[in-house]
Amino acid sequence: ATNHKNKNSDFSSKQLLKPKEIKAELDKYIIDQNHAKKTLSVAVYNHYKRILNNISSDVNIDKSNILLVGPTGTGKTLLAKTLASILQIPFAIVDATVLTEAGYVGEDVENVLVRLYHEANYDLDKTQRGIIYIDEIDKIARKNSNPSITRDVSGEGVQQSLLKIIEGTVANIPPQGGRKHPEQPLVKVDTSNILFICGGTFDGIEDVIGRRIKGGGIGFDRESTSSINKYATLSHIKVEDIIKYGFLPELVGRLPIISYLNYLNPEALYRILIEPINSLINQYTELFKFDNVKLIFKEDALKYIVELAVKRRTGARALRSILEEVMIDIMYELPSDKNVECCTITKEVITEKSSPEITFYKKTA
Ligand code: ADP
Repeated sequence: ATNHKNKNSDFSSKQLLKPKEIKAELDKYIIDQNHAKKTLSVAVYNHYKRILNNISSDVNIDKSNILLVGPTGTGKTLLAKTLASILQIPFAIVDATVLTEAGYVGEDVENVLVRLYHEANYDLDKTQRGIIYIDEIDKIARKNSNPSITRDVSGEGVQQSLLKIIEGTVANIPPQGGRKHPEQPLVKVDTSNILFICGGTFDGIEDVIGRRIKGGGIGFDRESTSSINKYATLSHIKVEDIIKYGFLPELVGRLPIISYLNYLNPEALYRILIEPINSLINQYTELFKFDNVKLIFKEDALKYIVELAVKRRTGARALRSILEEVMIDIMYELPSDKNVECCTITKEVITEKSSPEITFYKKTA
């Protein structure tokens, strides 16, 4: 190939962030999940080395698409999204549950490429080096784990179509999306350098892992599937478990890197509230600044929010909804009050819906 360097000038080996640098960036936004962060950092680094290498060498390095397994609200989407923004490449999120085989009601699998193309502002070059995150991939598992009994079109058909795109193909996409019409001009998208990250909760996969580890289902004791042990089990996840769960071996083979995310413990949830650059508390503090009000959360108030969040079992997602419920009245009232200097959220604001502590600017003159 001739002079690809110029074409990829925004993208040379010199500028490539090293895995440790990528991880350090991820650390700014994502709490815990070290296994996933490390795995992703290496995978992405290798992915870009691969693109550069395949331009200049005869040894073709295989694509390293990634499968993320972990409970809801623990950072799967956030990881993929943050990665894309660090690398400044186009990023699209699609939900596997809306995908169907071509010709059925729902979205053609190729529409995932249309999304990326739009995210890339119709720049084909950028599109072909982007990242696509496919959420809820576990929902297209074959329902019946015995493939010989019935063909499950919905799941397996979609898996087949996805397989082609993920392994690398030239797809013809309608630039505006929607269904293909015979008259419509199509854009050719080569997917061989698009990185796919698939994520899912894979409910019940702990049982599959547990059975494999214990060697068959006999004498399998319930204890190892208790929620305490759940994430310990997830760390043992292997390709064969995903296949057992209802995936085509060919598709899993195209997602060679599997990583897991842990349940977030109360300490992690607490840190998520305050630590990341765009943490929820920082966001609210910023909002209040517009009205010249200093917003303070008492520590026991934050701890109580975490306690409530743990009970909702939706990971870090619960934090936002709880805070939103707490803050709505205050954000409604406060801007109309004059001279408020400081607003302190105490535990009682949350437990008893009492008013926050307010102090006022001293009148001058
Ligand atoms: P899922 O694992 O279901 O894809 P998300 O990544 O969408 O979860 O997380 C939902 C929200 O919860 C995110 O927008 C983010 O604010 C927060 N969140 C989840 N996990 C983490 C984490 N490990 N660190 C920081 N924030 C997190």
